[in-house]
Amino acid sequence: MVVLVWVPAEDGDFLALDLGGTNFRVLRVKVSDNGLQKVEMENQIYAIPEELMRGSGVQLFDHIAECLANFMDKLKIKDKKLPLGFTFSFPCHQTKLDESILVTWTKGFKCSSVEGKDVVSMLRKSIKKRGDFDIDIVAVVNDTVGTMMTCGYDDHNCEVGLIVGTGTNACYMEEMRHIDLVEGDEGRMCINMEWGAFGDDGVLNDIRTEFDREIDMGSLNPGKQLFEKMISGMYMGELVRLILVKMAKEGLLFGGRLTPDLLTTGHFETRYVSAIENFARRLHKTVRKLLPDCEIRFVRSEDGSGKGAAMVTAVAYRLAAQHKARQKILEALKLSHEQLLEVKQRMRVEMEKGLGKETHAEAAVKMLPTYVCSTPDGTEKGDFLALDLGGTNFRVLLVRVRNGMRRGVEMHNKIYSIPVEIMQGTGEELFDHIVHCISDFLEYMGMKGVSLPLGFTFSFPCQQNNLDEGILLKWTKGFKATGCEGEDVVNLLKEAIHRREEFDLDVVAVVNDTVGTMMTCGYEDPYCEVGLIVGTGSNACYMEEMRNVELVEGEEGRMCVNMEWGAFGDNGCLDDIRTEFDVAVDELSLNPGKQRFEKMISGMYLGEIVRNILMDFTKRGLLFRGRISERLKTRGIFETKFLSQIESDCLALLQVRSILQHLGLETTCDDSIIVKEVCTVVARRAAQLCGAGMAAVVDKIRENRGLDFLKVTVGVDGTLYKLHPHFSTVMHETVKQLSPKCEVTFLQSEDGSGKGAALITAVACRIREAGQR
Ligand code: ADP
Ligand code: MG
Repeated sequence: MVVLVWVPAEDGDFLALDLGGTNFRVLRVKVSDNGLQKVEMENQIYAIPEELMRGSGVQLFDHIAECLANFMDKLKIKDKKLPLGFTFSFPCHQTKLDESILVTWTKGFKCSSVEGKDVVSMLRKSIKKRGDFDIDIVAVVNDTVGTMMTCGYDDHNCEVGLIVGTGTNACYMEEMRHIDLVEGDEGRMCINMEWGAFGDDGVLNDIRTEFDREIDMGSLNPGKQLFEKMISGMYMGELVRLILVKMAKEGLLFGGRLTPDLLTTGHFETRYVSAIENFARRLHKTVRKLLPDCEIRFVRSEDGSGKGAAMVTAVAYRLAAQHKARQKILEALKLSHEQLLEVKQRMRVEMEKGLGKETHAEAAVKMLPTYVCSTPDGTEKGDFLALDLGGTNFRVLLVRVRNGMRRGVEMHNKIYSIPVEIMQGTGEELFDHIVHCISDFLEYMGMKGVSLPLGFTFSFPCQQNNLDEGILLKWTKGFKATGCEGEDVVNLLKEAIHRREEFDLDVVAVVNDTVGTMMTCGYEDPYCEVGLIVGTGSNACYMEEMRNVELVEGEEGRMCVNMEWGAFGDNGCLDDIRTEFDVAVDELSLNPGKQRFEKMISGMYLGEIVRNILMDFTKRGLLFRGRISERLKTRGIFETKFLSQIESDCLALLQVRSILQHLGLETTCDDSIIVKEVCTVVARRAAQLCGAGMAAVVDKIRENRGLDFLKVTVGVDGTLYKLHPHFSTVMHETVKQLSPKCEVTFLQSEDGSGKGAALITAVACRIREAGQR
């Protein structure tokens, strides 16, 4: 069996050995592909003396090495270490392309101590012993495989090899998933059928005639190769002779006369049959009649066994070279433990800059104070309203928080769309719309006129000087309403409520989604002091010591810091690990140069990174047969959800192929394997980088508290984290490796952005009430 799939265009200079046919030969095959595929061959037949065919295996392989040396001397190529393909046409158990264990000798060979051994390593030993030349044995093949490969060179649809000579045999490309003897389900592998043995168990007995039985009985291997004995050149002439004899004996032919010639075994040679009957034409006709729905082309191979071995070698060589080239490119996206440690340390440095009073202004990682100073303790209670603005939808929620025996959170929510003309109209229109939605919601809940504390999840970058104040730094995600940037969004909301004069609301908190996530998980798990988002974008928050939050007065206690870590690297500190693909994705984005860390991690960008790599591979001829389709050039076609689908463990390769085909990308099985690998590498790097950032956070918390060991929980939200099959596992492992002194638990938040805002409001109200008492 041979692990190859045919792809055109080979190049190079190869040696081949052909053992197992009528003659033993050494060949040199030069293949060139300068637009015109061309093959040049030189070959030399060497005798193998009778006594060697029955001598020791070592002697046989020494002789083969001797012949090789002689051939290379003559061609003056002894100093070149050429790749060699070995056509060895005996039944073998093949475990690798360059390892073939002889099952049994046939065709007159009977050398001792070879059966059960790998013929390649025997040949290597004999060559090494000489020491006068070196070659690289790349592949062992059967003559059927050689034939398939030789024809495949001219016709890329050739996936079957057939030999009808002295003996008969066939091979074809089988799906890996049907080959139980070999691990792996992806792609195809050529199977050497050894079909000559068909019928040896008796299944052909009803169609075998008295003549077939007579041939078998008189053969060297009675009972064996029964199918072969009905087909191949070694027996066909004799079959005809036996029939003629019988007819003559019964007076039906030659006037009943039996000449001595007719009675001589072997006198009627197979070539006489050929002179009368065209075997090939009849074979083709029969196959086509049996398979009317298949279009079958028969291509006659030209020296399949010799040239074929060189072809297999050439393909194996090219595949290895291409594999190497792809690995070299992907290498840049594979981060070592040292590199990840470095990322962790740099994140730590950037965190300090963002927190420091002097360094904050120019810091890339802003470390924004949130004025959230404590996590839920379970005593919170009451009804709260929450708004969630910043995702695809705008939502209004009613959240009922209970304490004591019935401790828990109950939510009702309604989704409202925000029309584009409002997103991009005036600020007043936008906030009037929001208040209109709140009014509708209160009516829907039958709570009109009730005044409730409100938490506002507002997932745009904000500068906060108070829990209930958020100055919008910049709109993103398609929002563009005028008169909002630089304003406090709580004020804008309050003004709109006053304009409506219908109800009053007590806006208690403005919350980032990371903080909401931390709070939501914190309600279930008191160790939760970190929040993480890996969705469209990526960001994190955590509880920092007040003494380190230099932008805010006060030394006591802790405050949650919204890191805005997506901007990590915007000062160039990650340039050494960013690849040309990251640069390309950044340059074509809406905010070039910004959010560089986020662009290596989050859902909005991973698909684009993959697409850029696939384009590069294709340009270099390492994928899609070098053809860049219009689809592949289209930005955004490769969505991050495809990464999840393609990497899903239970997905067979055929399904990967159909996903790619759905994207308009024509692929082979090999292409699918490559695309899958690219997806794996890109998602893995994303998860590792995210893990390195998280390691910096948890270690800082540990050091803040002067602990040798920290137990902490991270609340996580985001579709990429939740739905990608491997992202979370890889990220967890990375944190474990980079922060061995922390035991980190990851808790998936359930609706962090909605519920979280209400919980923050509840905590704020609890504290306010405690203060009033
Ligand atoms: P947001 O971050 O906007 O609040 P989500 O957390 O739902 O929203 O993340 C949405 C992003 O997740 C999409 O932009 C997309 O990139 C990514 N995504 C969607 N489906 C999948 C999936 N099956 N696997 C991985 N990523 C996905
Ligand atoms: Mg979200």
